[in-house]
Amino acid sequence: MIGAGAAGTMAAIFAARAGAHVVLLERTAEGGRKILISGGGRCNILPSRLDESRFVTDSSYNTLRKIVRAWPLAEQIRFFNDELGLALVEETESAKLFPASNRARDVRDGLIALATREGTHFRGNTNVTGLMPLEQHRWRVLLDAEPPLDVDAVIVAAGGLSVPKTGSDGLGLQIARKLGHTIHKTYPALTPLTADPSAFTELAGVSLPVTLTAQSAERAATATGGFLFTHRGYSGPAVLDVSHVAVRSKARDAEPARLTVRWSTRDADEWLRALRRSGNRSVIGALREALPDRLATVLLWSAGVDPTRTLAELRREERATLIDVLMNCPLPWSGDEGYAKAEVTGGGVNLAEIDPRTMQSRLHRNLFLCGELLDAFGPIGGYNFLWAWATGRAAGIGAAHANE
Ligand SMILES: Cc1cc2nc3c(=O)[nH]c(=O)nc-3n(C[C@H](O)[C@H](O)[C@H](O)COP(=O)(O)OP(=O)(O)OC[C@H]3O[C@@H](n4cnc5c(N)ncnc54)[C@H](O)[C@@H]3O)c2cc1C
Repeated sequence: MIGAGAAGTMAAIFAARAGAHVVLLERTAEGGRKILISGGGRCNILPSRLDESRFVTDSSYNTLRKIVRAWPLAEQIRFFNDELGLALVEETESAKLFPASNRARDVRDGLIALATREGTHFRGNTNVTGLMPLEQHRWRVLLDAEPPLDVDAVIVAAGGLSVPKTGSDGLGLQIARKLGHTIHKTYPALTPLTADPSAFTELAGVSLPVTLTAQSAERAATATGGFLFTHRGYSGPAVLDVSHVAVRSKARDAEPARLTVRWSTRDADEWLRALRRSGNRSVIGALREALPDRLATVLLWSAGVDPTRTLAELRREERATLIDVLMNCPLPWSGDEGYAKAEVTGGGVNLAEIDPRTMQSRLHRNLFLCGELLDAFGPIGGYNFLWAWATGRAAGIGAAHANE
């Protein structure tokens, strides 16, 4: 097993349980660093409700669905409850599940402890440098400054390119490419966007729920959720969830995606009622009911309305322009924070080259691939761990039965 992240530790548990002699090779001392930093240190371990259509892939959706359905959400929840002893608590408004302790460390330590109890031999500080096919479908795992390991089957769970300081720098993708696999073009996904020059520097730190749409010539995404103005641009779940459309539009050197924001849950009729002429009430007062103060001021200026005006003074065309800004505001952006901040890698190994039941490569026997290096990712909300758990488990069981 190469890589003791989310997918690799899950694969180790199920391979060892199925009777395989498992060696888990991990470059960092303890593995699972991405689990430790996930969900702000709380680990959003799974979604509480699953919408499969929210996964993104350039491979076959059908294959993706088969993989996800092979370990249904309810069974995954049961696994964490019963086998890891982690009670999961739902954050209802976001449909996310967290361990009741709110400690990501409990998830990481629990997975490694269970893998070890099942018989996995964990080798930390072990850097894998490559993989060579041997005769009779066996494999040689090349190690940095250590003798190679010859094995019956190998699972590559080395992650993608996101947040390289956690240990994953794309070696798994390199291995797969060298072995002839098609790698769908990779890109940072779930990453903050930048705006330089920023139209909203004075709003850094302001956050609110919004609906954000990214539209490029080739794709579109809409997300409702938290939005945060940062010193460099924009972050928060809604921004991360649509960021792939923006990132990919830049990578293709085409027209950059257009971002538009609806700044509150109010619809146009509700705003129309809120902005009706009524005595001496100020326009800013009406906006403040639904928006943070500083944002309300900036939006009024950008609609060309002096915030001190009263609702009675607002002309019909001004009201229409203001409602347009509130409902459909263009958000200027210039770039993204890249893999350093991306929660996951978009693109990766083409799912068509993987058996969806076992995660075995269709090009090489006894080679199994799982986790982030595959061409799929989901939105914020536990989807990416769900993918890692499901693919890891399938690969572990598949590899344990490889030569039967
Ligand atoms: C800041 C942040 C927050 C996140 N929060 C969430 C969340 O709350 N919910 C959610 O669902 N998802 C979240 N994610 C995404 C989730 O963490 C990843 O999708 C998931 O960890 C991918 O699992 P993986 O096992 O495929 O890869 P990784 O977790 O990256 O594991 C790969 C492992 O392989 C090891 N490795 C790599 N190369 C080698 C080598 N050459 N030799 C030996 N070992 C090697 C690495 O050290 C690492 O331990 C978050 C990601 C980030 C960055």
